Amino acid sequence: MPTLLSPLKIGNIELKNRLAVPPMVTCYCDDDGMPTEQFIAYHEARARGGFGLIIVEDYAVDRDGRGFWCAGLWKDEQIAPHRQLTERVHAAGAKIFAQIYHCGRQTSAAIIGTQPVSASPLPCPAMGEVPRELTVDEIRAIVGEFGDTAIRAQKAGFDGVEIHGGHGYLISQFMSSYSNKRTDMYGGSLQNRLRFPLEIMADIRAKCGPDYVVSFRISADEYVAGGRDLAETTAIVRQLEAAGIDLIHVSAGTYESAWAIIPPLGVRYAWIADLAAEIKRVVSIPVQVVGRIKDPLIAEDILRLGKADLISFGRGSLADPDLPRKYAAGHPEQIRQCIGCNQGCISILFLNQPIRCLVNPSLGYEGTREIQPAARTQKVMVIGGGPAGLEAARGARLIGHEVTLYERADHLGGNFQVGAIPPKKGELTSYVTWLGEELTRLGVTVHLNTPVTPAVVTEQRPDVVVYAAGASHARPPIPGIDGPTVVNAVDVLTGKATVGTRVVVAGGGMVGSETALYLASYDKKVTIVDQLPDVALEENSSRRYFLMRDFATYGVQFVVNATITEFTGEAVRVDQDGQVKDLPCDTVVLALGMNPNTDLLESIRDVAEVIVVGDAGQPGDALKASREGFACGIAIGR
Ligand code: SF4
Repeated sequence: MPTLLSPLKIGNIELKNRLAVPPMVTCYCDDDGMPTEQFIAYHEARARGGFGLIIVEDYAVDRDGRGFWCAGLWKDEQIAPHRQLTERVHAAGAKIFAQIYHCGRQTSAAIIGTQPVSASPLPCPAMGEVPRELTVDEIRAIVGEFGDTAIRAQKAGFDGVEIHGGHGYLISQFMSSYSNKRTDMYGGSLQNRLRFPLEIMADIRAKCGPDYVVSFRISADEYVAGGRDLAETTAIVRQLEAAGIDLIHVSAGTYESAWAIIPPLGVRYAWIADLAAEIKRVVSIPVQVVGRIKDPLIAEDILRLGKADLISFGRGSLADPDLPRKYAAGHPEQIRQCIGCNQGCISILFLNQPIRCLVNPSLGYEGTREIQPAARTQKVMVIGGGPAGLEAARGARLIGHEVTLYERADHLGGNFQVGAIPPKKGELTSYVTWLGEELTRLGVTVHLNTPVTPAVVTEQRPDVVVYAAGASHARPPIPGIDGPTVVNAVDVLTGKATVGTRVVVAGGGMVGSETALYLASYDKKVTIVDQLPDVALEENSSRRYFLMRDFATYGVQFVVNATITEFTGEAVRVDQDGQVKDLPCDTVVLALGMNPNTDLLESIRDVAEVIVVGDAGQPGDALKASREGFACGIAIGR
């Protein structure tokens, strides 16, 4: 029975284990598709961490086939720079594939400088632009570009290529009757819709030879109305296998169903594994699977149950590049797990910015921000045990300082940990737990239940105070806000406030929306009021998709474009488009933003050097807090 640490043969190559980094766009390349040092070091770090296979991201076969500022092998000049990448990944012990793709209509003229193309001129539901229908000659030219790109990958030292036939990109657009309405030899029947990928496969084989490893990524189900489903997919993979594919990489979704491509926390773990199992039943080549698999213990079961042969740890590898090494050493508890927040990776990617990670503030700094010991050990006092304070303590200790952290509550995590209480948010706790255990491993002293006063700072005589005291609910001067029926979201979630059966949540941002769902799940009748045109606009798109579904399930009501003018005791009075109305309720839950906790700040500035981080400086999301905290910690004494 294979295990995660057992080797796997794919075509004529052998992986040392079954842990793979799937292709994820990083935006670490330059705008000419060339690998930067950041790009190479990022991949090299994952190879050093023990992954057996690294598949690099969306290599465009054509400049006009790009969906992001991603890597490319569309010209010969890109071969030599990529050789540095493959050599360094090989030297670190991993195999490396290049995923080659054309995004078709899933891009924009702003990125490629021209009108996108597709199988048919149907507007892209996600990007909103109408593509131009490819002519047969153009289709054949793109087929040739795939083959040319594959041979450049071969020359650059890649061990194989992965043809991206999933996620709604061009090949997927041809394969699905949802996006392909052609009436020529590339449209209509399944066999015709398959012609494009089969011609690509034949061209790659002709140019790269029979032994070059070729994988094919496919969305098992597109999860769009009228899109391709598992029945068609199994028929397709059998034909791909007959055409000489060596590996099938199973994913799901298109941009229209982006929640399926990068599902947020709350979606069940390994949710595509059963689809992969169905595909594995009809082929004899290895099957790779992705999709919320972040824990090696779950991955082992996928292998043991015969559902797949190779496991993709996507965001799991962003969160912890050393995941395989820690697992192989018998310490899975030391793995820093992805929490499925999508704040740092996909949300930033869709701004066309280099990706970041909430739980791994070193992501993107591999090779450029080495942890060097400080010239002189200093005594560092950290006030506050939320993500900013915890990361500051970790960073400061990593460079050799003597660090003590003080937290007034009886647990770590601050408001971030409170954010784990609403439905489907429990994974947030794993980050807090990991940080707490990591501080113990590193030798940071942590005092819980310990509010800090100026006297404590004077007595401890730290060289540096990191002030990470977080933020508290804002209480704008609205008449009635101090009434007995007005409580705040943190007190509700932590059980300190009593809530009636009819609740108005004032503020539909992330805190208000998640708190509303929490209350609705306890059978409260909940209405969210916000002055914006919709609620939960701060949530990333995939999390928002599920949140809005849950709101519908629980009957949560919204009153938007509305300004709160008074809390009367029995109602919330709002002005909505010039009309004043009362929203009756027993309880009002405030979620109207946060104000920094600065009570102690001025009184300690005379005692020590003070650095303010996280919400205590400027309230923001946890991604900002963790990054600020860690950057502060590793800079102390420099
Ligand atoms: Fe996971 Fe969040 Fe990091 Fe993305 S930003 S890899 S979802 S922890």
